[in-house]
Amino acid sequence: MSGYKLLINGALVDGDASLDVINPSTEELVATCARASSAQLDQAVAAAKAAFPAWSKTTMDERRTVLLAIADVLQANATELARLLTQEQGKPLGDATGEVYGASAFFRYFASLDLPAKVVSNDDKGRVEVRRRPLGVVGCIVPWNFPVMLMAFKVPAALLAGNTVILKPAATTPLTALKFGELIKDLVPPGVVNVIADNNDLGGAMTSHPDVRKISFTGSTETGKKVMASAASALKRISLELGGNDALIVMSDVDVAATAPKVFGAAMQNAGQVCIAAKRIYVHESIYDAMCDEFVKLADAWVVGDGLEQGTQMGPLQNKAQFDKVMGFLDSAKKDGKVIAGGGRKGDKGYFIQPTVVRDIAEGSQLVDEEQFGPVMPVIKYSDPADAVARANASIYGLGGSIWAKDSDRAWDLAEGMESGSVWINKHADLRPDLPFGGSKFSGIGSELGEEGLKEFTQVQVLNMAR
Ligand code: NAD
Repeated sequence: MSGYKLLINGALVDGDASLDVINPSTEELVATCARASSAQLDQAVAAAKAAFPAWSKTTMDERRTVLLAIADVLQANATELARLLTQEQGKPLGDATGEVYGASAFFRYFASLDLPAKVVSNDDKGRVEVRRRPLGVVGCIVPWNFPVMLMAFKVPAALLAGNTVILKPAATTPLTALKFGELIKDLVPPGVVNVIADNNDLGGAMTSHPDVRKISFTGSTETGKKVMASAASALKRISLELGGNDALIVMSDVDVAATAPKVFGAAMQNAGQVCIAAKRIYVHESIYDAMCDEFVKLADAWVVGDGLEQGTQMGPLQNKAQFDKVMGFLDSAKKDGKVIAGGGRKGDKGYFIQPTVVRDIAEGSQLVDEEQFGPVMPVIKYSDPADAVARANASIYGLGGSIWAKDSDRAWDLAEGMESGSVWINKHADLRPDLPFGGSKFSGIGSELGEEGLKEFTQVQVLNMAR
């Protein structure tokens, strides 16, 4: 067994089984790590349940101190964690480093928050307060696209609110989570944070577990529905951050040469494996050809390769299943539109797909209607901005979206009509710890981050006294 162990009740333990983790750039083994059995999941939940009474009684200041210590340890180990993240996830090392520092900053942000009781009345008749109580054991389930960052959306908020945690990464990216467990082992009391890894087989047991009071889930819409159904048996609280099919609308008055690289980056970041990547690019007919030409230049010059190599701008798809899925989208793109850049696999080793631009494509094609989650960008023509917004909204998803225009007031007015949880103007995917993030429709339930996100890890309690 390798060094990558589970963290259960304050101890690093071997798994009852093991899991091979593959580097998507080389298809070679990165490491073999511990894999938990369902009995070990039960042990982790029991430890978290036992740790809850004492942890929930600590003061906010005591919990803040723990969050800041975790932020420090993430920062101090950023080089090692980022390298590991690139190896298991595939993203360029610079992006991986940014992700680790970002996660550290999110722990720091939550350490700055409070959950004060609200005194509604306090007079000679009595006293009424609205308070926020922790829920108990919280299960945090994260996907493989941002394993470190998405952990930091959940764990610090859960802890600050006074809950104890079971963290479960995706089966193809467990190493950074297990390393995180090792790094924080002595910073939190035993059982307060437990980290387990599975082979995509313990999610159901976590979500149906009677002693888990909340599931904070990020992943696909399909799995999100299963989480919701499974959580019903024990009436768990849930927050679901699910899939998206973000529309990005480019108005006729933009500077084409200056806007194209930003739009392209919004589609290609993390090889398109971002829940809020720009996945449908609507461009006004008057600049459509010019914009497509710019995208082709950018795609042809984009440096695709192993994330550990200097200069790499885009890594591979994270796993074989996702690679196969996106290759299937390419087939549909070739049938329904005109591929003007990329269009296939890059090389014969690793899960690389060329940055691909598809024009003369419209709704009704799989590439436009479904979430591609890969570096394949459909560019769709429109003539009336109001119609573009209506088409953007005609999706089951509603996670993010953006409008790009020189006339930002006009863009603002249009943005008010977008149905997504976040709408950006002249930027895309600007995630900040102090802003709530969540989706409408099939993109999720509830939100994370900001004060709203913190409150989702609590239960409201009214204390109402007569004098
Ligand atoms: P996924 O749903 O397959 O897996 C996500 C996590 O759920 C993994 O840890 C997995 O092991 C676990 N899981 C699997 N079956 C489960 C079950 N029955 N019950 C509970 N957990 C279970 O998703 P993925 O393929 O890893 O991630 C890609 C998807 O995630 C995309 O659709 C993307 O848009 C979405 N995503 C959303 C956000 C957001 O914030 N909205 C962020 C990142 C990714």
